[in-house]
Amino acid sequence: MQLTFCGGAGRVTGSCFLFQSGATRFLVDCGMFQGPRETWALNIAPFPFNPSAIDFVILTHAHLDHGGLLPRLGAQGFAGPVYATPATRDLLGVMLPDSAYVLSAEAARAAKTGRRYDVPYSLEEARAILRQVEPVPYGHTFAPAPGVAATLQDAGHILGSAFVTLRLTERERPVSVVVSGDLGQPGRPIVRDPEPRPECDVLLLESTYGDREHPPMERTLDELAAILQSALKASRGIVLVPAFAVGRTQDLLYHLDRMARAGRIQSARVFVDSPMATEVTRITARHFELFDDEARRTVDEAAESSDGLRVSYTASVEESKALNRLTGGAIIVAASGMCDGGRIRHHLRQRLSDPRTTVLFIGYQAAGTLGRRLLEGAPAVRMFGEEVAVRAKIARLDGFSAHADQTALLAWLRGSGQAPDQTYLVHGEPAASAALAKEISSAPGWRCQVAGHGQTVTL
Ligand code: ZN
Repeated sequence: MQLTFCGGAGRVTGSCFLFQSGATRFLVDCGMFQGPRETWALNIAPFPFNPSAIDFVILTHAHLDHGGLLPRLGAQGFAGPVYATPATRDLLGVMLPDSAYVLSAEAARAAKTGRRYDVPYSLEEARAILRQVEPVPYGHTFAPAPGVAATLQDAGHILGSAFVTLRLTERERPVSVVVSGDLGQPGRPIVRDPEPRPECDVLLLESTYGDREHPPMERTLDELAAILQSALKASRGIVLVPAFAVGRTQDLLYHLDRMARAGRIQSARVFVDSPMATEVTRITARHFELFDDEARRTVDEAAESSDGLRVSYTASVEESKALNRLTGGAIIVAASGMCDGGRIRHHLRQRLSDPRTTVLFIGYQAAGTLGRRLLEGAPAVRMFGEEVAVRAKIARLDGFSAHADQTALLAWLRGSGQAPDQTYLVHGEPAASAALAKEISSAPGWRCQVAGHGQTVTL
């Protein structure tokens, strides 16, 4: 039995693990690589395996760095099923076509300047792979091939997210493997906390925040209330929130609604100006069965009273443009989360030079993005071919992460069962993975190593 780390090793993006057990070959995840040019180039490089020889894929969750290359896999010959939870299937139905649209828009921009840009897949290819998705509910053990049994359990990261337990048998020798996918921070809104780690021989563990702790949620919410009160009440300004359409926007709406009910923020109107975030919010509401107890109570309360948050969802470009006429006391939530695309850029161009504006960052800002430049205090930024002076207040909150921090990762790892024979760290920048590996190995009986890109190990 062999496992090859085809992506998501030595870096955060491109998660893709190839398992070979007897005559069966399958992947857990087939993610897109995101980041600088040389990383992105991996999206158009040949797969390090023959796609038509892959029997099936198990997908942990809908984020593009886990499932974003599925259309390319299908286009290059993969014809088997993609197993995922029902919520992940629903989210993929929005995210893969949107990804194809973003890629084709980038290609059109490149064509105008004579720049070369190879698109990893088309809209038709994104739609085609959706027909291969087979939903599997949490906790249901299925046998996608002889000698392979798999179970998905709630990872508490985003709606529908799962970790996978594999029971592989080759020549009557069984090996159990757990792939963590992305693990959520316990206590996050809407989704449940991660289920306990199952016993296993081999563990693949994400390490995005392997070297960091998140601030407590209570403190983050206090800071959020303070920022909004000063921005909306004192200066009658507009708050722009660049937010990821999947997960982060819904978490923010949830917190804002609870704050409005508790009287902590008053008279604010909220505009969600992202068609994808709107659709994902609809999908989230449809999956009430996945909500944690607190979210269920909140939904029940909302049904009985009308003093919650006033939220408007803008659909058309005209409605989006009409938001330019808002003069104060409103929160505009728009994608993209790092300001490198989407409608948030139009709002920033319109309002960055106005000192009554507050730009509130609630997510990670990668190096090289417009969001990062604003966070670093750039006095002016170039957008749409013009120089825009930055007079807006720039604020940030770090407590909304959808990933477990170091303490939560270690608690999940050690909370149940014995140490696996081997733990491989994946999905982390080198420094974060190394710090977590050191912590894990410091306990007696734990063997842990950081997986390398392209590395093959025998199970
Ligand atoms: Zn994720």
